[in-house]
Amino acid sequence: MSKLSEIPIKVEVYDALSDWEVHTGEGENVIAKRMKGRFRTLKNFGMSVWLIYFLGPYLRWDGHQAVLLDIPKQQFHLFGLTLYPQDIWVLSLTLLFFAILLAAATSIAGRVFCGYFCFQTVWTDVFTFIESQFEGNTPQKQRKFNAAPLTANKAIRKLGKHVVWLAIAILTGISFSAWFTDAYQLWGDIFSLQAATPVWVAMGIFTFFTYWFAGFMREQVCFWLCPYARLQGVMYDQETVLPAYDAVRGEPRGKLSRSGVQEANKGSCIDCKLCVAVCPTGIDIRKGQQEGCITCGLCIDACDSIMDKINEPRGLIRYASHKELHQGQTKVSLWKRPRVIVYSLIMAFSIIGVGYGFTHFEPTEFNVVHERRPLYIQMSNGDIQNKYTLKLLNKTDQPLVVNYHIEGLPSASVEGLEQGITIQPGKIVPVTALVRLPSDTTSSGLHEFDFVATSEGNSAISNRYKAVFIAP
Ligand code: SF4
Ligand code: SF4
Repeated sequence: MSKLSEIPIKVEVYDALSDWEVHTGEGENVIAKRMKGRFRTLKNFGMSVWLIYFLGPYLRWDGHQAVLLDIPKQQFHLFGLTLYPQDIWVLSLTLLFFAILLAAATSIAGRVFCGYFCFQTVWTDVFTFIESQFEGNTPQKQRKFNAAPLTANKAIRKLGKHVVWLAIAILTGISFSAWFTDAYQLWGDIFSLQAATPVWVAMGIFTFFTYWFAGFMREQVCFWLCPYARLQGVMYDQETVLPAYDAVRGEPRGKLSRSGVQEANKGSCIDCKLCVAVCPTGIDIRKGQQEGCITCGLCIDACDSIMDKINEPRGLIRYASHKELHQGQTKVSLWKRPRVIVYSLIMAFSIIGVGYGFTHFEPTEFNVVHERRPLYIQMSNGDIQNKYTLKLLNKTDQPLVVNYHIEGLPSASVEGLEQGITIQPGKIVPVTALVRLPSDTTSSGLHEFDFVATSEGNSAISNRYKAVFIAP
């Protein structure tokens, strides 16, 4: 494999351009130009996934909210399934899958999460779109509008923008709360000012931070506040493809003449700066990869549109790896990259686990606790008694009527196993069982037997717990 130093011409070109900088937010806010293109369409698609956040809580399943995180009852309802704290491992594996997916995506294609899906960049994109509708649909018009003296027209347009921003921020807060309580009821509670305190607190926090972060802070959140942005550098390697400027092809830059002809002996870049104008974080990607780049690809769209106009091939700015640009190496197959293989294996493990979990949920969970102090007692008539506490969790959404009995100790008598115990959904009704064996027929040591719980009217629900009887 060749080293960078062995390819002096290319490295010199990149070194000459390299100018690592961070747009610190001082001075004028970034006002990015909007234009169509492949990556803008992809970004719009990624953004549209967030509609699930707003609409998901209103989805019904079997007459109930399809997805509901019921924290007071410690239940997570998911399309007819109810998960309890005991099932947390399935949720943990789901989170593991998405965490590793994020790492894998970053390793393969950089901060694609930031560029196409992150709530901060998505909300900022929506807020700046609204701003452009009120204040001018080009950066030039917006700058002119902002520099103009305050008039009634300007005040009304500014006010309109902030009203729409606030409406979205409030809706964001309400939508968050709607995942944790009945969504339809929530609206009634809010309008009648009857909502619980946590709802008002969540709404207030989300409204404030959405309005502030998306309306005012914008790319500064990515630069200064987001921990994930800091972490991603360690997930890159020289094979990670990122939006990058092909300096060997683009340099030296030349201007177009008035007649639209490129200067002689110049590269493909005509220094139109459209790639900078569209960048939501104010970066000039021609100076090399920058900390603020969220890999949204909008500069690629911009440059491709220029290349089309000057009849040059597209791809002066393109998704390319360090090795491709600096060493001329063709793309390395994903399956030859160890970290991608490791990420894939972890994802496969977690998705298999999640699949197993979702297909093996039991409608009940049955546990029996053997009294330890004392392990047994000897009754006045000589019988040996062990004490147990039976706990059956009803994970269905219907009350269960449960009968208990024991199997495997033919000479035992049992006290406390009442029949027809009603257990409400999500509840446990502890039952104390006293199991006795006559001492003359009981050898010392451990005697295995089963507690059996069956549901009246639902033979499919039957649980068995292996217990031991201890005799001196
Ligand atoms: S440099 Fe290009 S890819 Fe990076 S944030 Fe700016 S527009 Fe997006
Ligand atoms: S859009 Fe393309 S041609 Fe225009 S300045 Fe950027 S890299 Fe050069």
